[in-house]
Amino acid sequence: MAENKKSIYIEIDPELRDILIEEGAGDAYKCYTCGKCASICPWYQVGTYEFPVFRFSFETLMGIIASSEDKDKLTAEIDRIYRCVGCEACVEQCPLSVHTPNILRAARRLLVEASSYPETLKSIVQKIHNVGNPQGEPRERRGEWAKAAGVAIFDRSMELLYNPCCLPAYDSRARSVAQATAGLLKKAGIRFGVIGDSESCCGEAIRRVGAEKTYKQVAQANISAYQKAGVQRIVFSSPHCFTAFRQEYPELGGNFETMHITQLLAELMASGKIAAQRPFVKRVVYHDPCTLGRQNNIYDEPRAVLQNIPGLELFEVEEFSRSLSVCCGAGSGGLWMDWHKGERIVDVRLDQLLATGAEIIAVACPYCLQMFEETLKARNSDVLVMDITEILGQSVL
Ligand code: SF4
Ligand code: SF4
Repeated sequence: MAENKKSIYIEIDPELRDILIEEGAGDAYKCYTCGKCASICPWYQVGTYEFPVFRFSFETLMGIIASSEDKDKLTAEIDRIYRCVGCEACVEQCPLSVHTPNILRAARRLLVEASSYPETLKSIVQKIHNVGNPQGEPRERRGEWAKAAGVAIFDRSMELLYNPCCLPAYDSRARSVAQATAGLLKKAGIRFGVIGDSESCCGEAIRRVGAEKTYKQVAQANISAYQKAGVQRIVFSSPHCFTAFRQEYPELGGNFETMHITQLLAELMASGKIAAQRPFVKRVVYHDPCTLGRQNNIYDEPRAVLQNIPGLELFEVEEFSRSLSVCCGAGSGGLWMDWHKGERIVDVRLDQLLATGAEIIAVACPYCLQMFEETLKARNSDVLVMDITEILGQSVL
């Protein structure tokens, strides 16, 4: 009888539960397992991978998440915990705003502490720790794009600092986002500069991977470098860096005035400081990045920029636009995960975007740019993905 009981009931591990709650999984107590989150999660739309989101709160409270002693089971468990791309679609739809990605981040922190997390992510955390960027590029190359574009190092006489994100700073494709942004800021007569080699990755992604210690190191180094340079206002290409500086750095003492580039461009266009001139005669669909939309409530400004470009016809993904936008799959470490075709969120989102008949997918995030660029290439598609700054740049510069 005692044997039977053991096979039916799961033993609670209160110690593990308490550690998880301390690591930020307190929302698990709010969940009443209604299941609404599971059907909005992009993994539900992928369909080939079972991902019952509502189970994570229950497993946390039981203290059974990430705790299997069986090696194969633990491997499968780690894979499951690292599927969440932090898109927050579940948070938006949950009647009690349960923050499931934070519950999973608590489990990830324990896995990182135990060095039991995906090798590809370990290598990213290591590179950011060692050289301040996920590509593993030398620090001294960070400012190369700026030198080539004639952008100066920030000094106190300037009104604005531009933070391009690691992808546009180093990546040959994404670099044109930084170049277009610099061109537009110059055109508007803004005196701006960059921090240069002393800047590191913002750490937003690795924090969501669970690497809290490394995140704090790079965040504190960035805060010191920015404070030392006398920076007050920052404009960002990436909604991920924008979120880190806007929502997370203040708790480490970093208080800056922050703007996403689409906010600034919408303002500059409304005040007449930048005017779109040459027509951009294309059918364009705008993809709302989760980090800009759901996580910062910025939906109108990117559309305002695009709508003010002559010739541009703007399309929406019916049903899955604005707060219902589906993630590109890059958040919370997803950018570096090697999920197989047919088992990837990016394919689902790309199908939705392509179904609009657009010739151009407009994005406002370097992560989305990379995800769609690679997937469109792999499909030999004629459709292009462009950052909003690149599109506006073609009309203005
Ligand atoms: S929608 Fe919210 S309350 Fe319902 S199962 Fe999901 S997390 Fe729990
Ligand atoms: S944050 Fe996104 S991917 Fe993660 S569980 Fe929620 S809906 Fe799913």
